[in-house]
Amino acid sequence: MEEKDAYENSQKQLDKVAKLLGLDSCTHQLLRQPMREFHFHIPVRMDDCSFKVFEAYRVQYNDSRGPTKGGIRFHPDETLSTIKALAAWMTWKCAVVDIPLGGGKGGVVCDPRKLSEGELERLSRGYIEGVWKLIGPECDIPAPDVYTNSKIMGWMVDEYNKLVGHNAFGVITGKPLSIGGSLGRGDATARGGIITIREAAKHLGIDLTKAKVAVQGFGNAGSFAAILYNEFFGGKLVAVSDSKGGSYNSEGLDAKKVLEHKEKTGSVAGFKGAKEISNQELLELDVDILIPSAMENQITDKNADKIKAKIIAELANGPTTPEADNILFKKGVFVIPDFLCNAGGVTVSYFEWVQNITRDYWDLETVHKKLDKKMTKAFNDVFNEYTARKIDMRTAAYVVAVQRVALAMKDRGWVMHVVDEEKAIKDKLNEERY
Ligand code: GLU
Repeated sequence: MEEKDAYENSQKQLDKVAKLLGLDSCTHQLLRQPMREFHFHIPVRMDDCSFKVFEAYRVQYNDSRGPTKGGIRFHPDETLSTIKALAAWMTWKCAVVDIPLGGGKGGVVCDPRKLSEGELERLSRGYIEGVWKLIGPECDIPAPDVYTNSKIMGWMVDEYNKLVGHNAFGVITGKPLSIGGSLGRGDATARGGIITIREAAKHLGIDLTKAKVAVQGFGNAGSFAAILYNEFFGGKLVAVSDSKGGSYNSEGLDAKKVLEHKEKTGSVAGFKGAKEISNQELLELDVDILIPSAMENQITDKNADKIKAKIIAELANGPTTPEADNILFKKGVFVIPDFLCNAGGVTVSYFEWVQNITRDYWDLETVHKKLDKKMTKAFNDVFNEYTARKIDMRTAAYVVAVQRVALAMKDRGWVMHVVDEEKAIKDKLNEERY
């Protein structure tokens, strides 16, 4: 297995925390691997009437705290290993924000940019034909992820409803508003991340109105992060990038204009008045806040030492390798770990699911207020472990999440002994709830 294998990285992260918490080996074994993995193939009729077969996956990692939850990615480099890592991170993500859901993830090996709209729709419906018996509002709830969006979720929920014979909108989140989507889901991942930056800056004494920011990746999470950063704090967005290149201007970039430029040209590169910059160069810029919002394994032992940012807010899943983590911790860089930083998306997905089940739809202000409360509490739960145990923020986030999942497994009777501190944690959780 190569050094950068995402699943291996996720296991390394867990092993570190299992040791720290003194997890018994049965709990550790269960948490180290998915409960269920599905590997299937989707035949799709292409526009030229030929047929093509696509490889697809759905992983249900752990459902001890509730139905598994997680996005479906359409990506040419998709692998089972990546999906397993992402499903593990979803488990920790839902636990760290304390929502009653487990972790899952799905994916199709394809390049959606090379598919026509009709081919994309048939592939999306084909995915549901492959998994409809395995998913459902009470067992596994997909959502959008890399290269999937609300339009695709609309096709998927429609296919599911046709197959089960009734409307079950709660089976998928991130849907269009007209068919049970939630207000505030679109920018939720970025908004949640911005809230964690706000909380981190409070503790670290950083003035965000004067901070310089760089955003790697300009998809849903990255573009909204750039726009919301300005809206929340002012500050100066100096660099942005996407898979095709980047733009840098030390005087600042207007995030909304960059987005318009990307919509016209297909990339943030070549923005008027900005210098061309590569993805790698962006990571090493002299900025206060770095927001990786693209793919896994961007910050590695090769470049971690060159990072100058004071805060790394990981809006992407898995952008930092464990080797890089150690370097960053020694350098004193404050990392807001992925499954905390980007938990806003699944938090509003959870709100969407609740609204679907209760048929009671909330206004935007309610969604924003509830999201802020969840993210602030999650950040502070993690920060408390970070200060009390003198560990890095990622390990602290794992401590919070793993203890919650382990406790659920114990309370369900899946394992006998969980952690040494189990009683204390249980008392604390009960105190908080009642
Ligand atoms: N794909 C998003 C994530 O990685 C959202 C998942 C969801 O809403 O279920 O967190």
